[in-house]
Amino acid sequence: MHEEVTALNPYHMAVQQFEAAAEKLHLSEDMREVLRQPKRELTVNFPVRLDSGRIRTFTGYRVQHNVNRGPAKGGIRYGPDVTLDEVKELAMWMTWKCAVVGIPFVGAKGGVICDPKHMSPAELERLTRRYTTEISIVIGPHSDIPAPDVNTNSQVMAWIMDTYSMHEGFSIPAVVTGKPLSIGGSEGRNDATATGVLFVTRQAAKRIDMPLRGARVSIQGYGNAGAIAARLFHNEGCKIVAVSDTRGGIYNESGLDPSAVLRHKQERGSVIDFPRAQRVRVQDVLEVPCDILIPAATEGVLTAANAGRVQARIVAEAANGPTTPEADKILFDKDTIVIPDILANAGGVTVSYFEWVQDLQSFFWGVDEITQKLEMIMNRAFSAVAEKADQYHCDMRLAANMQAISSVAEATQVRGIYP
Ligand code: NAD
Repeated sequence: MHEEVTALNPYHMAVQQFEAAAEKLHLSEDMREVLRQPKRELTVNFPVRLDSGRIRTFTGYRVQHNVNRGPAKGGIRYGPDVTLDEVKELAMWMTWKCAVVGIPFVGAKGGVICDPKHMSPAELERLTRRYTTEISIVIGPHSDIPAPDVNTNSQVMAWIMDTYSMHEGFSIPAVVTGKPLSIGGSEGRNDATATGVLFVTRQAAKRIDMPLRGARVSIQGYGNAGAIAARLFHNEGCKIVAVSDTRGGIYNESGLDPSAVLRHKQERGSVIDFPRAQRVRVQDVLEVPCDILIPAATEGVLTAANAGRVQARIVAEAANGPTTPEADKILFDKDTIVIPDILANAGGVTVSYFEWVQDLQSFFWGVDEITQKLEMIMNRAFSAVAEKADQYHCDMRLAANMQAISSVAEATQVRGIYP
């Protein structure tokens, strides 16, 4: 059982993918060793006063994978299952994601072991402020810039920014991204991930001469990434034929209205029972007749067991780690284009980068400028990865990892080994 979980764990998959790409690049063992290890791992144990008056000690982490291409960047997650190993592997994943889109960051990740669902807002604020103070020895606008992740949000980022700024004596908005607009957040951040997914899917569709107008799209997950993707692909002229959430899926071959589905989900807590749609099982959404499949929920959903039944010609991974290595092979063998997570969902970190740049220069851009710059970066990254895939006759995941790893290896090589 444990072995199976390990095999499906996306972070272990990321390490496997690193090895495969390093092999293909003929990277020396010395360089692999440098790139495999995080540069810094900070563990902090700190007390927080609970509402009851009791004091509890929490454990948190901040890991910087590599700092050769610029400051470290990555989310902070809160949860009972956070582990140092997971944080380390996610930090490495962020390094490749930033490198594949060519933004000057490397990977970091942080987390606190806690149960946010059973903590009051005041307790979460005290926990956040104390954790920020503890990790302030490694974070900063020029060294390491946190962002939201699982169970953290723009309010948590505002507390981090405020705490860090209080210590310095003046406002330093560039220390975190994903902040509210009123304190230096960026326009376009909410839609950024889904917008990036749309841009790379457009490029993939061009490669196979498939017009997006009228293309049938199926989306697993109807949260931030999935629901916004549904709206954007619908506006592009696509037909959203199926969507799902944890409770089930809905299907209508003539197309669903994404805004009406979202209203229904907000009112009823799920997309299921949406009128004028057929109820399907969660996993059916991956297999319905469609041209584009967007996994936007969770990891390990496309496996050896179902990949053969995927009908889409393009799979655009909005979620992190939705496809297992076995499924990758099956999809590649049947000419399905899989746009890998580190490329497909990199729109989010790219607009985070824009937020940081805007904060540093205290000059803010409009949403049109942001969308235009995002499109330029996503298109450029897609072309580079597609070219590499053609050159090496491999899938886009291996190509994206090769692209990312070679640019970090080059930066490491050219900077040299200190002293
Ligand atoms: P979210 O919590 O807003 O939404 C997740 C959705 O998936 C919910 O509708 C939930 O009901 C559904 N879901 C969960 N498990 C499911 C399952 N097994 N089957 C069907 N539906 C399921 O999360 P999100 O921010 O939209 O993130 C979704 C994925 O995209 C994650 O893998 C995340 O890491 C990745 N991602 C998100 C962003 C972003 O900016 N939001 C950026 C990069 C990557």
